[in-house]
Amino acid sequence: MISVKNALDIIDSFPKIYTSEKVNLQDALNLVLFENVSSPINMPPFRQSAMDGYAIKYSEQEKYTVVKESKAGDSGNHSLKVGEAVRIFTGALVPDDGDTVVMQEHVERNGDSILIQKMPEQFANIRKTGEQIKVGEIALKKGTKLNEAAIGFLACLGITTVTVYKIPKVTILVTGNELQKPGTDLEIGKIYESNSVMLKAVLQKSGIKDVEIIAVKDDYQETKTSIKNALEINDILLVSGGISVGDYDFVKEALLENKVEELFYKINQKPGKPLWFGKKQNTYVFALPGNPASALTCFYIYALPLIRKMCGYKNNHLQKVIAKSKSVIKNPSQKTLFLKANLEGEFVEVLQGQSSAMLYTYAMSNVLICVASETAEIKIGEEVTCIKLEM
Ligand code: AMP
Ligand code: MG
Repeated sequence: MISVKNALDIIDSFPKIYTSEKVNLQDALNLVLFENVSSPINMPPFRQSAMDGYAIKYSEQEKYTVVKESKAGDSGNHSLKVGEAVRIFTGALVPDDGDTVVMQEHVERNGDSILIQKMPEQFANIRKTGEQIKVGEIALKKGTKLNEAAIGFLACLGITTVTVYKIPKVTILVTGNELQKPGTDLEIGKIYESNSVMLKAVLQKSGIKDVEIIAVKDDYQETKTSIKNALEINDILLVSGGISVGDYDFVKEALLENKVEELFYKINQKPGKPLWFGKKQNTYVFALPGNPASALTCFYIYALPLIRKMCGYKNNHLQKVIAKSKSVIKNPSQKTLFLKANLEGEFVEVLQGQSSAMLYTYAMSNVLICVASETAEIKIGEEVTCIKLEM
């Protein structure tokens, strides 16, 4: 059995190798850039008018003759002399000879001539070539998580694909003779299989859509074969149940038989003591305890950070905050406790019903209070560490 800290240190030492993939920019929302992206063009690509108005060659005079027109998309580079103006619109090419755009609100027009009532400063209202970014400059750095603005920015540079951290492919393997798929009438002795539904939901929240679910009976051969197949195609294998010490718990043996290297088994914590973590080549395996609340806690604390790190996220652990306890918390177990709790403002309250078989309390909580193994008691008003259950 190892401490929570040691288990986390082991988790944090992985992955050693990251993998990338090229995706369409349109599909890259929330993905993380695996390399710097440099701009293939100047943006703006040419001198653009920032206003509807008139492009002129700047001078002291107030009267100009309108000689040409330039609207957005036109490519004519009209010549201009002092005293001449080009009628121009927002986004249109400013002729090379023009150095200033006068907004139309500051101009009085009579036929082909204009009288400037308010002369702007020279060079006003022109977006310079490459003002936003120049060709060859880094547009976005490696490690940038692509939000909609970043996607828009890369699109405006004409980029259509990006190389991002590869989102791990995940399989959830649920074990147990007692498990029945929701949507059927429950037979005596059976329960609905809920862990895969819950884990798939939390994976989706982290942007992992490619999740396969496999269910096996408490059967050594079946478990071994399913693990073997899953290891071949996945980056992450989440096993649920069958990792305790019962006569029908075959997961550990089946993993070792499949040459998955054990990195730790059993953590000094409650809930979730029998968590098993291992690796085979670049595939990581978490064998989570079957009790739903234990499975979810182990997922949040250990599996999620590794998965998020593989995705290239920087803040891969759930965020911690300090709050004042509204309750007395006793911890005679000398284990690290993860308690379902409700944080409101600066106060946090432990909820009733901490059994690892119960999800009811979990569904109501927004944090887990983390009580260190060496802390025997927390008094009312004392500060505690809370792990926020939001991503
Ligand atoms: P185990 O870890 O296999 O000993 O299972 C511990 C408890 O969790 C048992 O009460 C199981 O019935 C329950 N359990 C195991 N797997 C699931 C699952 N996929 N969905 C819901 N409950 C489960
Ligand atoms: Mg079981």
